[in-house]
Order: sequence, then C-alpha cells, then structure tokens
Amino acid sequence: MRIGVLALQGDFALHAKALARCRSASRDRSTGEASPPVDVEAVLVRKPEELEAVGGLIIPGGESTTLLKLMDEWEFVPAIEKFHAAGKPIFGTCAGLIVLARDVESPRQFSLGLIDVAVERNAYGRQRDSFEALGTAILEGRRVPVTMVFIRAPRIRRVGAGVESLAEHGGETVMARQGSVLVATFHPELTDDTTVHRYFCDLVRRAMATA
Ligand code: GLN
Repeated sequence: MRIGVLALQGDFALHAKALARCRSASRDRSTGEASPPVDVEAVLVRKPEELEAVGGLIIPGGESTTLLKLMDEWEFVPAIEKFHAAGKPIFGTCAGLIVLARDVESPRQFSLGLIDVAVERNAYGRQRDSFEALGTAILEGRRVPVTMVFIRAPRIRRVGAGVESLAEHGGETVMARQGSVLVATFHPELTDDTTVHRYFCDLVRRAMATA
C-alpha cells in the first residue's frame, strides 16, 4: 500500500517517518496489546499526477495560507477533489485540516470543503500556542490513549451532522472523520505513538479493497 504525503510545505518528512514506523510491529504502552506491522510505503507527492500512484494522501501541518498558495500554483485543488471523488482517503493535520474544512475563520480563506467542519485558526491564544496533552480517541469502538501535540493549532468550532467526532480535548472535538476524510487539530507525527497513522492506513487498506 502506498500513501502519499503532500510535500509542498510543512512537516511532510515527519509524516513519512511516522508511516515508516508503522512498518514495524509495536506494542501499546497502556494496554500491552500488539499492533502488527503495516505494509505501507510513504511517497512524497510534489506534483498532482503523482497522486495517481497512491491509495491515500496526508496533508501535513505547516502554514495553511502558504500551503494553499503552493497548492494553487501546482494545480493541486482539482487533483485533490478528483482523488476524493474516487473515494481515496485523505488525512489532514492542523494546517492540513484547515485546507480540508468547509469553513475557515480568523481570517477567512479558501478551503476545499471536503469535511463539514468550521475551524478557527490559531485559536488557543498566545501563551497556549503550543502544548502537549494526553487524550483518548474512540477508534473502531475502542478507547485508545493518544498523545496530542498542538502547535499554533486551530479549533474546530462546528462539527457537521455527518461528521464523526473521534477524539476530544477540553470538551471539544480535536479529531474527526467524514467518510474518507480524517482530520486532527494536533500532530500525531510528532510523537512515536503510531495509533493515528495506523488507523489511517486501515482506512486506506479498506478503501483499496472496495475500489
Ligand atoms: N497556524 C497554522 C495555520 O493557521 C497551522 C499550524 C500548524 O499546522 N501546526 O495555518
């Protein structure tokens, strides 16, 4: 299975490393449960036509306005819309979420609108611009601990009716999914915990099996 990482801007290299970590078996620190190795290869995507060779796409964190500018220059917007229409999973973290959201505030800017959430950029205020928290996600009906690193993170201000909230922090949704689109306001690639990347690999594997 090949998963693309949009490599225009931001921390794409760390997502590629996180996918590489999924290739080894790991043991859940709290439950002791074993996760089997995942047969996944990360592909850095720099041109729209490279999307044809991957079954899923990660849009990393970084700076969403700059990312959008580069996506526009390289004509990624129609290519990602086509990718989504083909049922291929997309995972956006932080700036990647901002790019995928239906509505963006503070300030308003263009977004792909592939998941029905409204986000407010840089919404944690100055002294809490960046922080780490241990939270819980509900994945496939199981409660799993997830280390959440927030860096000048957006806040999800509205969750649409068709959107499933997968994790909360401080009573707010910080990870969500609508069909093939997964988003997180935090950065799972910055920890050695592969839970969220494994979950995304699973979405891609299932989408490939039904395609
Ligand atoms: N603050 C950034 C933005 O608004 C996102 C930060 C991040 O991706 N870590 O685009």
